[in-house]
Amino acid sequence: MSLRFYDTSARQVRDFTPLREGCASLYLCGATVQAQPHIGHIRSGVNFDILRRWLEYRGYRVVLCRNVTDIDDKIINVAADEGVEWWEVAERNQRAFTAAYDILGCRPPTVEPRATGHVPEMIELMQRLIDRGHAYAAGDGSGDVYFDVSSYPGYGELSNQRIDQMRGAGDTDDDRGKRDPRDFALWKGARPGEPSWDTPWGRGRPGWHLECSAMSTKYLGGSFDIHGGGLDLVFPHHENEVAQSKAAGDGFARYWLHNGLLHMSGEKMSKSLGNSLLIPYMVRKVRPVELRYFLAQAHYRSVIDYSDDALYEAAAAYQRIEGFLTRAAEVAGTVEPHAEVPEPFAEALDDDLGVSPALAVVHGAVREGNNAITEGAKERIAELGGRVRAMTGVLGLDPLSDTWSGGGDSGLRDVVDALAAVALEQRQAARERKDYAAADAIRDQLLSAGIAVEDTPRGPRWELRRG
Ligand SMILES: [Zn+2]
Repeated sequence: MSLRFYDTSARQVRDFTPLREGCASLYLCGATVQAQPHIGHIRSGVNFDILRRWLEYRGYRVVLCRNVTDIDDKIINVAADEGVEWWEVAERNQRAFTAAYDILGCRPPTVEPRATGHVPEMIELMQRLIDRGHAYAAGDGSGDVYFDVSSYPGYGELSNQRIDQMRGAGDTDDDRGKRDPRDFALWKGARPGEPSWDTPWGRGRPGWHLECSAMSTKYLGGSFDIHGGGLDLVFPHHENEVAQSKAAGDGFARYWLHNGLLHMSGEKMSKSLGNSLLIPYMVRKVRPVELRYFLAQAHYRSVIDYSDDALYEAAAAYQRIEGFLTRAAEVAGTVEPHAEVPEPFAEALDDDLGVSPALAVVHGAVREGNNAITEGAKERIAELGGRVRAMTGVLGLDPLSDTWSGGGDSGLRDVVDALAAVALEQRQAARERKDYAAADAIRDQLLSAGIAVEDTPRGPRWELRRG
């Protein structure tokens, strides 16, 4: 079977045929950097990181462009509240996003352009739209530039809405300069005290929608393969992106992929609830790889209902995979990942990136592997271990990879190993003299230092644990 995705625009699953053979170009709407990221923001990063890894596994050279919206009403408001420059707010939060993507094992995009670095491209696009009769500068001299929605018959197709049933765009404080309330702002005229850039129509700043059309065209061309983003961006943001680019004469995105949102108690996350879901808090509850597993395991288009229980369940599922591979490596010496994943796993991912059925294949192999350990079947253990590593590797979840095993810090791991061994010897000695209080105290001290001890038939084992 072929690789296929659910295309929001076509409202059906379509075979993936790239524009250029062997290449896949992806544009992903990135963060508006007005605050720190919570897991709802990062879910999209994890979902599309897996898409990228799967495309690469399937032999495509992937070019991933993910923008940063570094100018926006909210950024300006936060800066005003704090009495700092808008770019300080943007810089600080962009760093927090980058750290969050990194800690969850999302590889950096091929290019990560910022809106304010692409004003000339936006001016050029607005000029093309004005020349073709699809945009106009506001008649009130405000410097606003609007897209003329009624000039583009396809408006509403992506979000499946009829233009005569749409409300006003609501993107500017007053609509004095608009010809139609549904017209949306490409460019916002300068207001006192706000950052602004020169254009042929007056000073102002980028509208959110315009930047994505301008930057995707610059880095991926007028037509590209896949546009991704959260489901909440379909309207108005993506509808407006399509309108701008197609009205300007570009082909734009050929497939639209949208990830579902993260809800809390059935509600979309509000800001106050969201504070407890900021990434630094979350990676104290579970390890980063367990958080990645939690965000990855549901189908990318489904809603994730967040609860601590669901999070810990996901962590436990990941630990079953990790526990098997760790024991497999102990018994078999080393476990090397296979070059290829099993067919049922590949079929699951080919079918609109079915991570949940793919993980079912992983857990099936883990169960078989645990049986092989019980039976002491060494070759079988190594074989199943290699299979599990190949599959989890494609998902960015291989427990024995350098990213997650501490392999990148192997020197440090040796040091911790030696220190833990000393403490465990003392604990053993305390037990032998029946001083169980002292033995338990050593275990508790290790735990508070993040080292969890587990007694196994082959003696105590330890692992790093957070929280
Ligand atoms: Zn966008």
